[in-house]
Amino acid sequence: MNIQAEDQEYVAGTYKRFPVTIISGKGSVVTDIDGKNYIDMTSGIAVNSFGVSDEIWRDAIYEQSGKVQHMSNLFYTEACAKLAHMLCDRTGMKKVFFSNSGAEANECAVKTARKYAADTKGPEYFTVITLKNSFHGRTITMLSATGQGHYHELFQPLTPGFVHAEAENFDELKSLAEANKTAAIMIECVQGEGGVVALSRDYVRAVADYAAKNDIALIIDEVQTGNGRSGKLYSYMNYDIQPDIISTAKGLAGGLPLGATLLGDKVKNTLRPGDHGSTFGGNPTACAGAISILNRIDEKLLAGVREKSKFLFTAFTNSPGIEKVTGMGLMIGIKPVKPAADIVNACIEKGVLCLTAKDRIRLLPALNIPDDLLAKAADVIKSCCE
Ligand SMILES: *Cc1c(COP(=O)(O)O)cnc(C)c1O
Repeated sequence: MNIQAEDQEYVAGTYKRFPVTIISGKGSVVTDIDGKNYIDMTSGIAVNSFGVSDEIWRDAIYEQSGKVQHMSNLFYTEACAKLAHMLCDRTGMKKVFFSNSGAEANECAVKTARKYAADTKGPEYFTVITLKNSFHGRTITMLSATGQGHYHELFQPLTPGFVHAEAENFDELKSLAEANKTAAIMIECVQGEGGVVALSRDYVRAVADYAAKNDIALIIDEVQTGNGRSGKLYSYMNYDIQPDIISTAKGLAGGLPLGATLLGDKVKNTLRPGDHGSTFGGNPTACAGAISILNRIDEKLLAGVREKSKFLFTAFTNSPGIEKVTGMGLMIGIKPVKPAADIVNACIEKGVLCLTAKDRIRLLPALNIPDDLLAKAADVIKSCCE
């Protein structure tokens, strides 16, 4: 049976896949089953931080899996402790809870914020304010958090206690926070699935200020924007704010499933033994992968991300058939005149993998994509937009 037919027969039909079967790759080039090469401008949706089958990353997980690949969270492992220490050192946060995905990292963020509010203000303080056009994951509670109605329709009733504010309208957010007994405000600094839209500095700072003054937990969803993607280690660092809780996942372990919820001073002791848990969370193999990734996201690498970003913004701005370029770092949205999906199909035909987000072409290349590949991919995308 050929692979695409087998997949269509036996894998739940939740994805509309492109007709491409990837079997291998190296760095930012991936190869399909017919031997055709593609420049990968997706990195598995911002997961393969240093591209495909990166040797340093592979050695790190190989070495760890040869020692102990997994232990229950009832025992200590070195990789889990070391990674938590590194994350805290680099963010000023105080403690980390590990899980396996972005949705789970957000679940922990919301559980922590609700427990903190219940402990300090009372259990009726449970409302979480998120933004319209946001995306926070696929569990029933994270669908509730996600401010896009079309995700809600089929799965009622959703978890109560979430309200959605228009991005960039601080007055609306403030009146929602006053009208509800509010535990947390949760935002993405760059809305990824919502069309790669960066929030303004004034707005994010006003929200952070308001949350701090009213002892409302500020949760920054760094699932997609985190781990170097924005040109800083975490996107909130572009705004000079300090969140109370940070959730991250996607690129953290460079291709293995790992979620992390970073807890700031205010909430560092909110979760007590038995309050939360995960069988796989903090798995030493995934943590060893993450340590190797974080070690390489240094100032030099981040400067490279910002430079590659500038190159792409310059390449696409005022190019024929392109209305607008948005985003931050190596998280870029292109609003084409023609339908984005048609352009992505044409790019794939010409050997460049890209994604869509709403009406945009979305680019999420590996953080270390070589400049010549980036230039080649940009030329193909521009020619398909014309
Ligand atoms: C992808 C994403 C999630 C969900 O992550 P999963 O690993 O798919 O659960 C949550 N928030 C943001 C901002 C994301 O981009």
